[in-house]
Amino acid sequence: MKKMEADVVVIAGGASGLAAAVAAAEKDASVILFEKSSTTGGAANMGMGPLAVGSHYQKDQMVDLTVDQAFRVLMDYTHWRVDARLVRKYLDLSGSTIEWLEGMGIEFLGAFKYFAQSHQTWHIVKAFGSNKPAERAGSVMAKAMTDRAEELGVELYLQTPVKKILTENGKVTGVMAQGPDGEEIIAECSCVIIATGGFGDNPKMIKEYIGYDWGKDLFSFRIPGVVGDGLNMAWEVGAGKTEVTMEMTFETPGITNVYKTLSETVRQPNLMVNLEGKRFYNEEFINNTVFTGNAICRQTQRCGFTILGDSVIDHYRKNGLDYVTMHHNIKNLDKWDSELNTYLSGDRVSDDPLAGLQQEEQKNAHSLYVADSLEDLAAQAGIDAKNLIDTVEEYNAMCGKQDTFFNKNPKYLLPIKGPKYYAAKHFPAGYGSLGGIKINDNMQVLTDSGKAIPGLYACGTDVCTIFGDSYCFILPGNTMGFALNSGRMAGMNSIDYIDSDDFVE
Ligand SMILES: Cc1cc2nc3c(=O)[nH]c(=O)nc-3n(C[C@H](O)[C@H](O)[C@H](O)COP(=O)(O)OP(=O)(O)OC[C@H]3O[C@@H](n4cnc5c(N)ncnc54)[C@H](O)[C@@H]3O)c2cc1C
Repeated sequence: MKKMEADVVVIAGGASGLAAAVAAAEKDASVILFEKSSTTGGAANMGMGPLAVGSHYQKDQMVDLTVDQAFRVLMDYTHWRVDARLVRKYLDLSGSTIEWLEGMGIEFLGAFKYFAQSHQTWHIVKAFGSNKPAERAGSVMAKAMTDRAEELGVELYLQTPVKKILTENGKVTGVMAQGPDGEEIIAECSCVIIATGGFGDNPKMIKEYIGYDWGKDLFSFRIPGVVGDGLNMAWEVGAGKTEVTMEMTFETPGITNVYKTLSETVRQPNLMVNLEGKRFYNEEFINNTVFTGNAICRQTQRCGFTILGDSVIDHYRKNGLDYVTMHHNIKNLDKWDSELNTYLSGDRVSDDPLAGLQQEEQKNAHSLYVADSLEDLAAQAGIDAKNLIDTVEEYNAMCGKQDTFFNKNPKYLLPIKGPKYYAAKHFPAGYGSLGGIKINDNMQVLTDSGKAIPGLYACGTDVCTIFGDSYCFILPGNTMGFALNSGRMAGMNSIDYIDSDDFVE
């Protein structure tokens, strides 16, 4: 058994843990960070950038969004069912966090929207050697934060999962971890900061706390090792439980993150139906992936279909796609034929970095159907044929006029005609779980009765309940933003606690 000692032990080196470690070390604390994986960054390595409000980029880009307004947006969105003090503190800090990160050598491309109706809060990290938004640019940020932590003297141990939080008389005294060689490590400390990223890679906990069967009616990202350790360890030492949600979106299993052109084409504002062959959504909002995910969740077998015909494909060939995303940046259908042929041949090849996260259930999924008639399409996809035919007829009749049911913007009403017809089957997906450990607005872990556990702090997605029931994509960059800012707060507050009169050796 190895013994260690520090002021603060940070459990995990993802976005929030790295921020916590740097913030604590900047206050001259001795810090040990244990990371389970062989690399730091966690899910943040997959992302593109955090939310900030009031950054100098926004000033330069004339973005007219104040912290007061952003606060109001989030509180209206959540109907004030979330911790208003925490939301306010997070947003207040977020602008300065951009400069704090820049001080570590991180560059940003600017502040962006995720979709047209969202606010310009998403600060996309500049990837190495590129001036274009790039998937996984977040890994550049994680690397720079790791370098900064080490420069400040943070002792960083990789492949060293923390197994247990140690307490004495209800007060935190340290952690037990396991080194790469299996050796037990006892690290004594005054404060522990939990930052293990939720349980997105734990189907059992997903079933138990969220009620979905991963691989059947949920196809969320699985970041290896993010299995709920922080939640379980915190609950074990008396932390209260909060509601846990998924950062829900939607995906077309086996297509999304594998075939970019197919994926983006079936995410345009075209007719969507459920298994009953009925419309259930104003498809104009499809690029708010959270709203779309929510609408899909409500349908039979938690699935929904985008229905296309060659008429729509031809329209996009001529005019380009209506919705272009920052992360995939697919504007035209140049690769539609080649990707479709590859997909239909059964090959699943992709150079997309996120395709590497695909599980067998996604690789083997059959989500795109092609047919010569609507009857055949319905039979292949399991949709009620009569209703589908009626719905398409009704939809086509509205094209060029008005959507008399959901009032979709008429410019997105494209008639669906053959010779070929396509159906893409969508399911709920997501970035991971949100919440689980009860905290206050100082990031202190609380018991069920609201009493702070002395020396115990938590941050990031392990504690993130500030979005209520649905992720707030209208303020994009919000989870990474919350992870970084809550981590920063946990790091600073833990040292303030050690320096305060409340602290008992
Ligand atoms: C594909 C993808 C794209 C995304 N893009 C964005 C984006 O552009 N903007 C945005 O706002 N959000 C984005 N997100 C979400 C964002 O990345 C996460 O919200 C954020 O990384 C959460 O930070 P965290 O510190 O809570 O967890 P993570 O960053 O996931 O870190 C958790 C860490 O805990 C470690 N760990 C787990 N258990 C233990 C243990 N017992 N001991 C030690 N270590 C442990 C894990 O190995 C991991 O390194 C994206 C997510 C994904 C999956």
